[in-house]
Amino acid sequence: MNMRVLVVEDDKEIRAFIRSSLSIEGYEVQTAVSISEARAMLQQALPDVMVLDLGLPDGDGIELVREVRKQHNLPILIVSARHQEAQKILLLDAGADDFLSKPFSVGELLARIRVALRHRGTSLAAAVTEYVLDDLRIDLASHVVQCRGEVLHLTPTEFKLLARLVRSAGRVVTHRQLLSDVWGNEFIDHTHYLRLYMAQLRAKIEENPAEPRYLLTETGVGYRLAI
Ligand code: CA
Repeated sequence: MNMRVLVVEDDKEIRAFIRSSLSIEGYEVQTAVSISEARAMLQQALPDVMVLDLGLPDGDGIELVREVRKQHNLPILIVSARHQEAQKILLLDAGADDFLSKPFSVGELLARIRVALRHRGTSLAAAVTEYVLDDLRIDLASHVVQCRGEVLHLTPTEFKLLARLVRSAGRVVTHRQLLSDVWGNEFIDHTHYLRLYMAQLRAKIEENPAEPRYLLTETGVGYRLAI
């Protein structure tokens, strides 16, 4: 059966663009132009994933994120022209899975949808324990990280941080999430730890740490392991 996507977007052109891009890939697409219309559609049938704009005629998309998250595990991908970092963190905290800044390409949209589905929709599937991209191979089960054919020696904390990103590969992980999962809840304000360890990891993994290929920065929000 085809995956069903609910697209909530009031801009006619963007809506049409998303619809056609997803239909070609075999997704079954439903669209809504407002929060109230989306709400009504969600009550009838739950899609496999929701793509949500924020500026909607009858309110802010974040209201819908909070509402949906109270009852459902449905992956939510935000598409928005807003670039404020605080806003993005607020959305992720409210339960959105990821965000895509407008303008975005079809390729980016499809990749983010696949990642959101993998992380939430198939929560019963085995956890991600292997990561391979170009010259980087990470096997969490055997604790082996290989880069450009060489086995890397990572400290326990570096490995923990990298492992956390592997488990969410392709998705942004906020500073708070990383600090809490790697160091513990009492360290969520210690962002300098994160900067330090990320710099160490990049020095070991990246060919050019100043222009990372794998460990990407989401400015002011967190980090994302490229896929
Ligand atoms: Ca809009």
